[in-house]
Amino acid sequence: MKYCLASVKGGVGKTTVTANLGIMLGNSGKKTLLVDGDLASGNLNFHLGTEEASPSIYDLLSDEEVSIEEVKLKITENVDLLPAGSSLQDFLKVDIDRLPQVIEEASDGYDVVLIDPPPGINKNSIVPLRSSDSALLVATPDPPAISSAENLLRVATLLEIDVEGTIINKRRKRSFFSRLFGSDTQMSMDEVEKKLRTEILAVIPENDDLGREADLGNPVTVRDPDGSVAEAFEELISKL
Ligand code: ADP
Ligand code: MG
Repeated sequence: MKYCLASVKGGVGKTTVTANLGIMLGNSGKKTLLVDGDLASGNLNFHLGTEEASPSIYDLLSDEEVSIEEVKLKITENVDLLPAGSSLQDFLKVDIDRLPQVIEEASDGYDVVLIDPPPGINKNSIVPLRSSDSALLVATPDPPAISSAENLLRVATLLEIDVEGTIINKRRKRSFFSRLFGSDTQMSMDEVEKKLRTEILAVIPENDDLGREADLGNPVTVRDPDGSVAEAFEELISKL
């Protein structure tokens, strides 16, 4: 099964979720391929603690004579990554229309493929979506992010792209004062579900470790496979 994470807004956690969900899928015994589909600013490799890659998916999407096996990086026993590259020159040679075919070929032998696209509603984000069987929306529980997710759902309906459900990320703990004064605009999961009318597949807490460690290339689910974040990902996996 091929899933594409998706959001209109950047910074909601698509890449962080892809990295951690991938690690957890691998831990559960699923052969998993992660595809960095954020071609212009892919950084899935940093989240997973690997160096800048060469060759990269850029070479598979241009006329370079490179095989998928040469590009794949092994992350854990069950998890491989098709990394984006870092050279602007190589990026400019990319033909994104080749992406569905490359992903189709690369998927052979994997139980799950996770594609991490750029944010937005444009060709660079729609082609990765179209390369998948189903979309997993990612949104923070804030009115602007949920409203953007609604727009994306409308586009998915128009383009006949299947949406599996929504992953809510960075849910904040409500402080005593924000509850008292109603100063936190965070939506409840009931409100989110009513607005989006899709299943909420997981609620991942805002967690400094998840953020910081992700940026350092050390996913929290690797460091703390029994913690509350890992638990949220386990629940997500049970629904996929
Ligand atoms: P996107 O891929 O959607 O643009 P990222 O995965 O790059 O978003 O995440 C944006 C930032 O938010 C990163 O610095 C990341 O470490 C941080 N982050 C993601 N999820 C969480 C979380 N649950 N708690 C705290 N920080 C998070
Ligand atoms: Mg990203």
